[in-house]
Amino acid sequence: MEPDKARRQLVDYLLSGGYILSRRVQEAFESVPREKFVPEEYENKSYNDIPLPIGEGQTISAPSMIAIMLEVSDLVPGLRVLEIGTGSGYNACLIANIVGDGFVTSIERIESLFLRTRQIIENCGQKVITILGDGTLGWEKGAPYDRIIITAAAPNFPQPLIQQLACGGKIIAPVGARSGLQMLTVGTKLKDGSLSTNVYCACAFVPLLGTHGF
Ligand code: SAM
Repeated sequence: MEPDKARRQLVDYLLSGGYILSRRVQEAFESVPREKFVPEEYENKSYNDIPLPIGEGQTISAPSMIAIMLEVSDLVPGLRVLEIGTGSGYNACLIANIVGDGFVTSIERIESLFLRTRQIIENCGQKVITILGDGTLGWEKGAPYDRIIITAAAPNFPQPLIQQLACGGKIIAPVGARSGLQMLTVGTKLKDGSLSTNVYCACAFVPLLGTHGF
């Protein structure tokens, strides 16, 4: 099937399943060509609602999971967003599409993924700053962030990331076990620097490794 038609069908499925709730997230899914971010051998599965291998034992998450995370992240144009775990670069480009004139920085710890993805993001013309490093330490230079989105399973919200979050900002992560299930959790930073948390649904992500990860 032609990618454009498959993308349309995926969006219809995500809408009817209640995964996409907002116009902004819908438009991002309609605009960003997922087939460009998956390895060539999986291109024909780009629009199936499944996670796919991207090399180095890592995955691009299933579209429904990505949609849920984007919706709970409550993104609007103009926000400064830090993503931890660039992976394929697909989610970073969806975020960039939504925040428009805002800023998106994404950190990846595996060099081969970082190099491959940087090129893909550039080819797609999305405004994303990509960084190679340990995302659990954040990226102080770009702080404070309105949103910090961790796309790997975290034991808890890393302290440096909480520090780099703006007051009223939100940090989003699958929080829980290294393998098996985690709970998608959103923390909102209060005036006193503490977090008020909301727990959404169960999910299964590859682990967040690093100084403040597993
Ligand atoms: N957002 C990605 C996408 O759109 O394809 C999917 C991310 S994949 C589920 C998780 C990624 O987090 C992997 O690429 C992994 O290497 C990365 N990761 C794990 N620990 C990290 C860390 N401390 N800093 C940066 N990236 C990390």
